[in-house]
Amino acid sequence: VIPARVIRQLSRAEIDDLLRAHLVGRIGCHAAGVTYVVPVIYAYDGDGFYVASIEGQKIRMMRENPEVCFEVDEYDKGNWRSAIVQGVYEELAGAEADRAIELLAERFGRADGDRTPRRHGQDGVTTVCFRIRVGEVTGRAVTRSAAS
Ligand SMILES: Cc1cc2nc3c(=O)[nH]c(=O)nc-3n(C[C@H](O)[C@H](O)[C@H](O)COP(=O)(O)OP(=O)(O)OC[C@H]3O[C@@H](n4cnc5c(N)ncnc54)[C@H](O)[C@@H]3O)c2cc1C
Repeated sequence: VIPARVIRQLSRAEIDDLLRAHLVGRIGCHAAGVTYVVPVIYAYDGDGFYVASIEGQKIRMMRENPEVCFEVDEYDKGNWRSAIVQGVYEELAGAEADRAIELLAERFGRADGDRTPRRHGQDGVTTVCFRIRVGEVTGRAVTRSAAS
């Protein structure tokens, strides 16, 4: 029996399910002739991905060019789902940054202890909170099934 693999498009509701189910996504950014893809942990609220980050290359690049891509996927025994989002980087301050930390804490659970992101950094490291505001979204999936 040859498995049939048909790539289908996910509906927006299916994409939202995928984005809410996962914790790790990949940011794709581009600035000054360099393309950079980097994994981060996120909380998704339907309109944006909230991330707590250290200062570094990705933050420098997204400040320079806020047009970014965000990708989430899963793979299991030949079945896969993925979503690709075109978005805009927005750095958060004050109450908005606090809300980002709240969303991340809710998503990961406070039992996570010291690994819960902190607004004001630890060990002298500054935390940068940001949102990737969701623009155009696409989703695709393959469900492997036995061909008749
Ligand atoms: C599953 C997962 C979840 C993560 N979640 C977060 C998160 O929520 N917030 C966060 O700030 N960071 C997270 N990280 C770490 C993140 O991927 C980066 O390593 C880190 O944020 C530093 O990125 P930067 O652009 O500031 O790199 P810099 O410290 O400025 O370093 C840039 C240099 O390091 C290399 N580099 C950076 N990151 C990686 C990497 N992951 N793998 C290989 N090479 C790398 C780059 O290619 C470049 O040469 C996560 C990593 C993983 C694997």
